[in-house]
Amino acid sequence: MRILVTNDDGIHSEGLDVCAEIARTLSEDVWIVAPEQDQSGVAHSLSLNDPLRLRQIGDRRYAVRGTPTDCVIMGVRHVLDGKQVDLVLSGVNRGRNVGEDVIYSGTVAGAMEGALLGIPSLALSQSYKSRSGKPPFWETGLRYAPDIIRGVLDNGVRKDVLVNINFPDCAPEEVKGVAVTPLGRRRQERLHIDKRLDGRNNPYYWIAYSHQLKIEPEHGTDVAAIEDRHIAVTPLKIDITDAPTMTRLAKLFEKN
Ligand code: MN
Repeated sequence: MRILVTNDDGIHSEGLDVCAEIARTLSEDVWIVAPEQDQSGVAHSLSLNDPLRLRQIGDRRYAVRGTPTDCVIMGVRHVLDGKQVDLVLSGVNRGRNVGEDVIYSGTVAGAMEGALLGIPSLALSQSYKSRSGKPPFWETGLRYAPDIIRGVLDNGVRKDVLVNINFPDCAPEEVKGVAVTPLGRRRQERLHIDKRLDGRNNPYYWIAYSHQLKIEPEHGTDVAAIEDRHIAVTPLKIDITDAPTMTRLAKLFEKN
């Protein structure tokens, strides 16, 4: 089995090494193609106005100056040109990708690109509190990901579907189980603009999430599952057509 590993945190991130380690428990044929720089939040963007630079930095290890989507295309169509790729793993992201995170996530987009290219693909993310000062519990993904990935592959991944996996912010022995869930909502009420002043008193801004506003996640969702120390497994599909609205609009516009 040939595995392509990518991420959005970049070629130097710890989570990428964790993902490669997970991949090597499944196969010896592991290839890494990951962004030169942190691409978190770039979603499924494609570099069309700048050239891609490819840098080999080790055996089967490449950095691309581009997005996670660029990396998967570069990996499949150029680095592994002609060779079959059996699995794409994207991650392990430093931080969860649940609810509406999946819309912004470069990690999820890496797996989505794999699915678009017809390859079984999974996104892996490790929930953690960035303000705690403690490192993420990478060992949780290391412990559980191989069996989950094997299970998903043995079960068969539908065409145009990718599987999004989030590990809870706890040690492996504290994990309560695996929950297969739909996407929840992280709630965009928390989203705001953080205004600051530079050394010359000119304003600059960060997109930020308020930590004060605590909203209970909806039961049975990926958001609730990881907060309850479950590993959340959520299949996502590329076709995002909303069937009920389509039916309503068809009735509205296609009268004859
Ligand atoms: Mn990231």
